[in-house]
Amino acid sequence: MTRFVDVHDMVRWIGRFGHEAIMSGMVEYLESDFKRWQSFEKSPRVASHTPFGVIELMPTSDADTYAFKYVNGHPSNPARGFQTVTAFGVLADVQNGYPVFLAEMTVLTALRTAATSAMVAKQLARPESTTMALIGTGSQSEFQSIAIRSATGINKLRIWDTDPDAMAKCERNLEPLNFEIYKASSAADAAAGADIVTTCTADKTNAQVLHKDAIRPGMHLNAIGGDCPGKTELDPDILDEATVFVEYTPQTRIEGEIQNKPADFAVTEFWQVLTGKAPGRTSETQVTIFDSVGFAIEDFSALRYLRDSVDGTEFFEEIDLVAHPDDPKDLFGFVGAYSPVGG
Ligand code: NAD
Repeated sequence: MTRFVDVHDMVRWIGRFGHEAIMSGMVEYLESDFKRWQSFEKSPRVASHTPFGVIELMPTSDADTYAFKYVNGHPSNPARGFQTVTAFGVLADVQNGYPVFLAEMTVLTALRTAATSAMVAKQLARPESTTMALIGTGSQSEFQSIAIRSATGINKLRIWDTDPDAMAKCERNLEPLNFEIYKASSAADAAAGADIVTTCTADKTNAQVLHKDAIRPGMHLNAIGGDCPGKTELDPDILDEATVFVEYTPQTRIEGEIQNKPADFAVTEFWQVLTGKAPGRTSETQVTIFDSVGFAIEDFSALRYLRDSVDGTEFFEEIDLVAHPDDPKDLFGFVGAYSPVGG
């Protein structure tokens, strides 16, 4: 049988354990998987692009477990009543190939993306950081805010979105959680005085939601919305005077902010910082950028965390996903005879 966490279970699981505790726990799983980066099979994700958006498959595996996520990115979806990003994912047993765990990942992706941002900010943001600008206040924004606060203590938010309703929604969701929120009048206004700038906008253009003149020495930029060919958020000049950290270079060259740069533009893979193979922040004035696109190992970690966390709880069901004939060669006999109606 395969364990299945559906949307209802996911919501109940978060209700029981809380966003903050879950994302902190997920950071530990992410760190342990990033530290054993070399033990994973890695490839850029497989993307199917259409004028509407993108549908992607994100596979990875270690010696025991194979994982993949199905995810879409459709920036025009909210205007049509659909979400920009939805997903589901699977863990399978490498030894026999059977799927052992299946989960909704629309919510889980928001949790894992925020936990990944938090893991990186913990290493790269200046320790005395107090304020984050949040540019783009859609689905990912509250998760980002909560995860960054639990990793860095940042409680002051300067939020900006081109959609005033999205800003009002973000404020409504976060104020009861004791965030101090300033509603900015532009991206530059949001970034003014911020120690971390998170960009999580969705627009299938090479947008420049943040211009070079908004950057101050010592900032950490957590750029998560540029994650597809032709879809970026930063003024490319910002990258020239910053140190850029990525997940998996071959995928980020296709999808990240660095797609607007030459193929040999210098980047550091974040796992190297965690394992001490490369430096992270080296000065108070250095501008660091996490050019996040979302990588399969993060989904592997998130699924692994969810699988372990729901074990022994009622937040999953056992489903019959794999046919199981008594004789493994007699699938036909397992199906039974064809009996047309009235035959
Ligand atoms: P969403 O559609 O719910 O929210 C995006 C918000 O950006 C909207 O409120 C929109 O009004 C706003 N926006 C668009 N252009 C803007 C601009 N120029 N200035 C300010 N605001 C602007 O999308 P979401 O689910 O929150 O995802 C946000 C982005 O993050 C998407 O691009 C998505 O593909 C990406 N994403 C990345 C990862 C990752 O791992 N890096 C994971 C999940 C989502």
